[in-house]
Amino acid sequence: MTDILDEAKKLEIRHRQAALDNALKRTEPTQQTLDGRVICISCDTPISLDRLAAKPEAARCIHCQQIEEHKHGR
Ligand SMILES: [Zn+2]
Repeated sequence: MTDILDEAKKLEIRHRQAALDNALKRTEPTQQTLDGRVICISCDTPISLDRLAAKPEAARCIHCQQIEEHKHGR
């Protein structure tokens, strides 16, 4: 009985981690300015072009991304 519960818990943790990874990679829709820059989904500031060049899928500015990753304990 205990073994089954342990296995279930392990599976649950693994699934949650995968979901978190996906969420961080980006599931939220992004907004773009007229000149094609991406708006940070957290603070509505255009993400710097340097950041987009390094990470084209970024949905947040570097500042908000750091806050978000900190929230998830990464
Ligand atoms: Zn931001």
